[in-house]
Amino acid sequence: YQLENHRIYYGNIKDGEEVVDECIVLIMKGPHSYTKEDVVEIDCHGGVTVVYKVLNLVLKNGARAAEPGEFTKRAFLNGRIDLSQAEAVMDLIDSKNEMARKNSMTQLKGGLSDKIKQLREEIIYQIAFIESALDDPEHYSLDGFPEKLLEEDKKWITIAKEMLDSYDNGRIIAEGIRTCIVGKPNAGKSSFLNALLGEERAIVTDIAGTTRDTLEESVTIDGITLNIVDTAGIRDTEDKVESIGVERAKKEIESADLILFLMDTSVQISEEDIEILQRIRDKKKIILLNKSDKATEESGFEQSALKEYISEETPVISISAKYGDGIDNFIMELKNMMFHGRIDVNQEVYITNARHKDALAKTYESLECVERSIEAGMPEDFFTIDLMNAYEKLGLIIGESVEEDLVNEIFSKFCTGK
Ligand code: GDP
Repeated sequence: YQLENHRIYYGNIKDGEEVVDECIVLIMKGPHSYTKEDVVEIDCHGGVTVVYKVLNLVLKNGARAAEPGEFTKRAFLNGRIDLSQAEAVMDLIDSKNEMARKNSMTQLKGGLSDKIKQLREEIIYQIAFIESALDDPEHYSLDGFPEKLLEEDKKWITIAKEMLDSYDNGRIIAEGIRTCIVGKPNAGKSSFLNALLGEERAIVTDIAGTTRDTLEESVTIDGITLNIVDTAGIRDTEDKVESIGVERAKKEIESADLILFLMDTSVQISEEDIEILQRIRDKKKIILLNKSDKATEESGFEQSALKEYISEETPVISISAKYGDGIDNFIMELKNMMFHGRIDVNQEVYITNARHKDALAKTYESLECVERSIEAGMPEDFFTIDLMNAYEKLGLIIGESVEEDLVNEIFSKFCTGK
């Protein structure tokens, strides 16, 4: 009998005469569906056996299991969304924190695509104008054109540059801040880590695919994700002897976005502290003066001695890892520092995808070539080559003229079921 579109039906799933489960079934006829194709969704009771049986029954009757990302890939191939939006679906599913989720959602809604499409439109208009003028000089004049194009080109360069620059923050939003906690033995590194993980607001996640001896913990507080790198076993109570100095710690410090240096203010500054300060001299860092509860005049900790090793902007915060004091200040400082007090996921689109960044970098280069050609007084047909390059590179972001292999590779990273 005739089933109505976009209705939910209630009934039994039957294998011959046997009722397998009591379900609801959703009918969505193309093009008003996720993939633009006809879609039926079955909502059955959970559990392994029921789902297995229903699935088998569907497969027996001619369905095929979807490949990872197949639904989204079809949505892309059928033109419902472009490639950057499809990638945003994956980012959305993977999002580690609220900011990452918002940014992915903006991209899914076309925030990035719109910007790219606008740029492409403007570029192709100028290419077409040059071509027409060269073909038909009687009706189109190129007098004064290079100056006008230069102005446009500079505007495009600024836009491309802004998008490229957003990648630093974008990566931090999406992936988290690669953070290294350093400090001499007993400075309170593990206590601090525990204080962070134990924060009521903290969401702690295991990072999949990383071994225990490289990445230890990922903690999200107030929308900021810290991927805390363990330097030489800060949580390893057996072996606290060499908490710095080992090769690995050095490497971790080098690749970290942020160093948290814990100092024990209940004792004097030691050689080891100085050694660490020197090593992290060029890194983005926050100095945490720990054991504020225990420090007294007599302790002999001279904060002024730090000046020689850190710049004025380096935040220095008093905390007590043991009692949780100062953690709020730390979080506040962290936000200021990483996003320079200006991050607005509601207004801006942040580039989070390395593929997009790469295409933008190439676009930027081509646009710069255009600028140089104009300034060098080259003939107009020279501009079109680089303009065309920029146009094509931008097209890669939204999936215009993208090769099939790349499309397959992008979607293969999706989780099954979407
Ligand atoms: P790590 O070697 O740097 O990991 O240091 P731990 O976190 O193991 O701390 C060393 C010792 O200092 C432990 O006995 C902690 O209880 C103590 N400790 C850590 N932080 C504080 C603090 O803020 N105040 C006080 N009074 N003791 C602390």
